[in-house]
This record gives sequence, C-alpha cells and structure tokens, in this order.
Amino acid sequence: MEYKCTNCNEQIKSEKIKHKCSKCGDLLLLKPQIIDAINIDELRIGKGDFWKYHKFFPAIEKKFQISLSEGGTNCIKSKNLGKSLGLSNLFFKDETQNPTNSFKDRVGALLVSHANSQNYKKIICASAGNQGASIAAYSSYAGIKCLNIIPKRIDEGKRAQMYAYDSVVEIKGDTVDESLIHAEKRANEEDFYQATAELNPLTIEAQKTIGYEIVGEIGVPDWLIVPMGSGGCLISIWKGLNELKELGVINELPKMVGAQVEGWSPIVDKYNLKKQVKSSLKVTHTLGILVKNPIYKDLAVKIIKESNGKAIAINENLILPTERKLASSEGIFAEPSSALTVASVKQLNDQNIIDKNEKICCLITGSGLKAPYVLQALTHKSKTVGIGALLSTKLKILQLIELESMYGTQIQKNLGDISLPAVYQHLSELEIRDLIARDKKQEKRIYYKITVKGKKVLKAMQTLVDLF
Ligand SMILES: [Zn+2]
Repeated sequence: MEYKCTNCNEQIKSEKIKHKCSKCGDLLLLKPQIIDAINIDELRIGKGDFWKYHKFFPAIEKKFQISLSEGGTNCIKSKNLGKSLGLSNLFFKDETQNPTNSFKDRVGALLVSHANSQNYKKIICASAGNQGASIAAYSSYAGIKCLNIIPKRIDEGKRAQMYAYDSVVEIKGDTVDESLIHAEKRANEEDFYQATAELNPLTIEAQKTIGYEIVGEIGVPDWLIVPMGSGGCLISIWKGLNELKELGVINELPKMVGAQVEGWSPIVDKYNLKKQVKSSLKVTHTLGILVKNPIYKDLAVKIIKESNGKAIAINENLILPTERKLASSEGIFAEPSSALTVASVKQLNDQNIIDKNEKICCLITGSGLKAPYVLQALTHKSKTVGIGALLSTKLKILQLIELESMYGTQIQKNLGDISLPAVYQHLSELEIRDLIARDKKQEKRIYYKITVKGKKVLKAMQTLVDLF
C-alpha cells in the first residue's frame, strides 16, 4: 500500500497498517489508486454491492473479501421536512440500512477483509460504538477473534451488538481518546490487527464510498452535511469526491458542513477560533460522539474552509426533538448524532445561507435503536397518556435528587401528597433501571442520587415535555 503524509507529502510504501508519517509524525492517508476511466453511472450500485468499488481500494484478493451486504443504501428525498422549510431538494443518505445499522459496515467489510488477507487471528478496535459493533460482526463472520475497547459511556445498543457478535469488550477511560491510546498499546504488544478508525487509514478509504454512492444517485449535492466525532467521515467523503474530480468523473465539489454538539465541539471551535473562543461546556451526555481531541481536527477544518462550507455547533436540547421530527415526518429513526445534520439544515436555512432550490444531502450515520435511552424517553412519553401520574412522580423524583441526594422521607415531604411505601416503590423501580443509585448512609438513612443514565433520561424526558 502507498501512503502519503498530509503535512510533508512524504510517500511511504508498506503492506502494514500505518497512520503516522515517519518523517514529521503527521497523519498518513492512502494514495489514490490508479484507475482507468470510469463514468458516473458506475458509481450507482445496488444493495450489498460494496465490493464493486474494489478498484478504489488497495488490492485485496477476491477470496479474502467479506461481505454482509453492506453499502448501496438509499438517498431518500425528503417528503415533509424539506417542504416545511421551503426546500425543494433535501435528501437523506440513509446509512441505517446497513447490516449492523450504521455507515461503519463499509469499514467492517474492508478492514476485516484486509486482516483476513494478512492472516491475522485477532482484531482490536477502540471506538465510541458503531465501528466496534461493525468490526465485531464482520470478525465473527470471518472467524477472527475481536477485542473492543470502549469508553465508560457509549450507547448501550452498540455495546449489546458487540456482545451479540461475540466480541470481548474492555472499558477503558472516559473518552474515545483514552480507549484509543490503550488499543494502540495493546496492538504494539500483541499480534492484533489494528481496526481503530483513527489508527487505520483504510477506514477513510471505506467511508469515501458514501460519497460515490451519493454522486451516483443524486449527482454532486450543493451541500453535504455530516456529523463529526473525529472528523474522519467528513474527510473520507471529501477525499473520495476529490479523487473523482481528478479522474474527470465530476466537475464540481459540494460545500462540506460538519456538525457537532455545542460544548463538545472541538472542530467547530477550531474553525471559529478567529471569530470567537468558546468556553468548553460540560456536557453530561455526549450522544455517541465522545472524542475530546479529534485526530483529524486540523484537516477537517481545512476541508470545510476549502469547500466554502460551514462548521456548526448545535445546542444539545435540539437533538432529541429533531431526531423525533425526522422519524415522525420522514420515517427515518436516526441515532442522535445524525439529528445534528438535520438541525444544521434548519440553522443554515434560517440564516438564509442556503438557496431554496439547492441540493442538500444529510448523512444519517446510524440507527436510533442503538441509543436505548432515546427509546426510553419516547416510550415514557407515550405512557404518560395512560399512566401520567406514575410517570410524573418518577420524573419529579429524578428532578429532586438531581439537585442533591435525598432520603425517602425527605423525598416524600418534597412531593407532598404521597405515601412513604409509594415513594419507596418508585425508588426501587428507578434503582432497578439504574436511573438512581444509593449514595451515602447517614444516621441509618439511605440517600439516593441520580446516575449518569438517570440524567440522560431526565434530560430526554424534559425535552419531550417541553416539546408537547
Ligand atoms: Zn510527514
């Protein structure tokens, strides 16, 4: 494989996975493959035809190529949301249609096939969930052992997928950054294939196919909006489209928009540096994007500027309502981070930055089923119709102990018209669901405190209550 440094242009040939330039220490990306003339029609593929793009990747023999029918997802034209915003060409690239319900199945297919071709017996992957779930699925199919390293807080559905696909899971650190350091160390000590996105540039190659499919289906959009964790997805799509332009397949490039959650937005902050310096808010839940110091930060900012795009930070309170809106008006149940793209469209539209007839494409990276606390919030809301009193008591308890930990009779006093056994019934139900936990014990009194999960659910529920 041939690599090129993103900083000093040093070129390196190696069959091993490398991500750092040996000369300057900056990031390596793979050099584009030399491809004979192709036309735009060849970019249009069907469901599961991912390997039709094999000539864009470093060569992997057909007998090592693994597929679970990834790729060929649809670019769905908006029926209702676009209309409500006055936009006539709004599209959603729906990556929830992939086998493990996220765009990372392209990465799973390419990386595990590569590991397979190099005869690795075990694979390691640090991630915030989607890539790990996908690597686990493809590894199980290939008969390769998989070790996932994840931070403490990831969407539970993604962790459940890892277990279901028989991966070993180790929890290391509070952020992906810490898990990543651990995965790098482990792979240096043992003979693991490194399948961590930030440490394996084939990830970028796999993800660039999203851009090919969009172009094959709807042509080059004017705006392409992508959620950013490490910034890798945005870079991948841009790299792929640039290569197409150099091949003469397309003449234009889209304006790239990268979206993050306000307060957890290192790339957007860097983009805005000259205009404003934001204080970093403490985000209690991070909606699947837990990267503190993104490895691709500088490159992502450079691309956004080069493309005349925008970097947008969305207030976290907008995410769940937007996610619900996308599901209820378009039938697409997206993971919370994907809702950032839809919220960005609204913001760009409100600020008259986009033209009503421009072609806009939002990348929907993964399914809402991967984040059960969202489900919990949505189902609790529907239950309020029938058991509103019960629900509001639990909500009130969560609100009370979010401020300070409290004991049973103290909660009873604050709630007013309720018996003590009823309070304890609610407390035990909340405790069983890990929404509260026992705190200190003082004078034989047990104090209860809200858990991280409880805070997430409380916030989600409050957002919904505000909405209706
Ligand atoms: Zn270099």
